[in-house]
Amino acid sequence: MPVAQAFPVLVAPIFIANLMLIAHTLAAVQAHGLSRLEAQRLLLHALGRADHDRAWLLSHDGDTVPADAQYRLGALVQRYQKGEPMGYLLGYQAFYGLDLMVDARVLVPRPDTEPLVDWALELLEPLANAQVVDLGTGSGAIALALKSTQPKLQVLAVDASADALAVARANAERLGLHMDFVQTSWLEGITGPWDVIVSNPPYIADQDHHLATLTHEPLTALASGADGLDDVRSIIAQSTSRLKAGGWLLLEHGYDQAPAVRTLMQDAGFSHVQSRQDLAGIARCTGGQWPTALSPR
Ligand code: GLN
Repeated sequence: MPVAQAFPVLVAPIFIANLMLIAHTLAAVQAHGLSRLEAQRLLLHALGRADHDRAWLLSHDGDTVPADAQYRLGALVQRYQKGEPMGYLLGYQAFYGLDLMVDARVLVPRPDTEPLVDWALELLEPLANAQVVDLGTGSGAIALALKSTQPKLQVLAVDASADALAVARANAERLGLHMDFVQTSWLEGITGPWDVIVSNPPYIADQDHHLATLTHEPLTALASGADGLDDVRSIIAQSTSRLKAGGWLLLEHGYDQAPAVRTLMQDAGFSHVQSRQDLAGIARCTGGQWPTALSPR
């Protein structure tokens, strides 16, 4: 049977018994627009096997895919075609070497955010009893990456969404990482002072056409006013009174927002304001230091 014809079997509401071998199943899924890797990951998930079992798939490509797994795979492919992120389909996402449980309550952590974690770790590493807060923690990605790399850190994970905090707590528990959690809007009610305040806030402009492709993730984690900088402005304004002298604020932002965020930080009185690139070479995060008493403003 030609591959493209084979696929309706996968998505038929009533399963039609058919001998689908692993090799044919993967080809059928790829024929519907998924990469080979995505097809392999979804098939492994439908088979109840671990994500790292791709070698098993290769060595069993002549095995028949059981009917129930075909049916589950068909449902996953349909969700993929409607734009659901792979993280939601699989139920977890790798970030900074951690497997994080994710679902529609939280933004799926992106590799773009990993350089922000590196930057925070560089700043925190030399400090004794360092204290860091992650604002808008979502799945807990940044906070957990920091804590897992530097176990002595005192980490507070903040989110305005009780749903998101439930996911972050569950991830912390699963990973055996201890940190504190607070439900509030950015730094409201939180005093500190902190060595580092880090955040990947919502930063997409309300009218940005990218939002149309991100319909499955919480809008509150993505969009932030006419220029996308409403939350960045709030965080910068609140951070000035919550950082230790010499402490740093580090923010992720949109691909074209680095100059605007640098200006906002400089205007608020931060020093050493600078941006760093993500893995794709885009200036993706900006940080500034709250001056020590002796530094000139
Ligand atoms: N980087 C994400 C995207 O553009 C947005 C994340 C965010 O708003 N913090 O898909």
